[in-house]
Amino acid sequence: MSFSRFVRCLAPVAGLFAALPLAAAPAHKIAIVMHGGAGTITRGEMTAAMETQYRGTMKEALKTGYAELQHGSSSLDACEAAIEVLENSPLFNAGKGAVFTHNGQVELDAAIMDGRTMKAGAVAAVQHVANPIHLARLVMEKTPHVLLVGTGAEDFAIAQGIKLVPQDYFFTQRRWDALQHVLNEERKSKQAMAEPEGIAGTNAHAFGTVGCAALDRDGNLAGGTSTGGLTNKRFGRVGDSPLVGDGVYADNATFAGSGTGIGEYYMRLNLLKDVSDLMEYKGWSLQKAANYEIHTKLVKLGGTNTGGMIGLDRAGDIVMPFNTPGMYRGYVDTHGHLVVKIYGNE
Ligand code: ASP
Repeated sequence: MSFSRFVRCLAPVAGLFAALPLAAAPAHKIAIVMHGGAGTITRGEMTAAMETQYRGTMKEALKTGYAELQHGSSSLDACEAAIEVLENSPLFNAGKGAVFTHNGQVELDAAIMDGRTMKAGAVAAVQHVANPIHLARLVMEKTPHVLLVGTGAEDFAIAQGIKLVPQDYFFTQRRWDALQHVLNEERKSKQAMAEPEGIAGTNAHAFGTVGCAALDRDGNLAGGTSTGGLTNKRFGRVGDSPLVGDGVYADNATFAGSGTGIGEYYMRLNLLKDVSDLMEYKGWSLQKAANYEIHTKLVKLGGTNTGGMIGLDRAGDIVMPFNTPGMYRGYVDTHGHLVVKIYGNE
């Protein structure tokens, strides 16, 4: 029996014990930060009703993750639970509501990483898994591997007792219309394949990826990311989201975080690992390192409107830089303050 459980058993018998702290060591402060994708998100593009829905769902996800942390669950549990809220919402480009590939299919990528052990699990191009972040966690915990893809990942899901869902489950009219729009643009410009630069310039719908970083009572960090990738992707394209160091990272020695934007740039920069390296080898703060990656390195490689990231360190410092007009984002800080933002100028 653990010490805290032992004290709890005695407390009702002797009221005297009720005043004693239940944990032997003081708990570490807790915090959580999330994004719901970066991109061309402006007040002009948003109706009041949509804005309310986005803010409300971001809040719900943050509260879900934070409640896990308050109840003493791990940062991994918090990330998984919070991300599942957004995967289950049709608003975000993850799980239900994911964007469509060139062929009108949905292909989902996700990854989760444990900052304590630096273990990670990921899946890519799965087509029938409602909550890819959960499957990513199972890859981490039940296999010696890091990344499983396509039908192999789905076979593993079945072996783990996950019920696969039909492609229809993911359908939203908004994402379908977005694909038709991009296909029309493509036809007009006679481009054989949408270049990442083209996507940045013309595809205002390339956002909605979700990500989370959390700090738990034991002082452990975790990070997770889940996405449908980019509208009109093809030929089995996989982006940064399921790749450790590119779209997700967690190391207790530095930070935990998640990226969102045009994955090709994040992959070339190993963007999140670079943030970690700057912290570890140069002694930079999380804020300095994250700002440098998003506002200098990413801009040098791909220009503005390429993306953003969220990050959290063990001191509870939170960052959410982006070089796009907006990014769905929010946090509950170490004082318990909940904040949700969308636009650049708020
Ligand atoms: N990074 C994702 C990808 O390239 C997309 C996004 O974050 O919106 O697949």
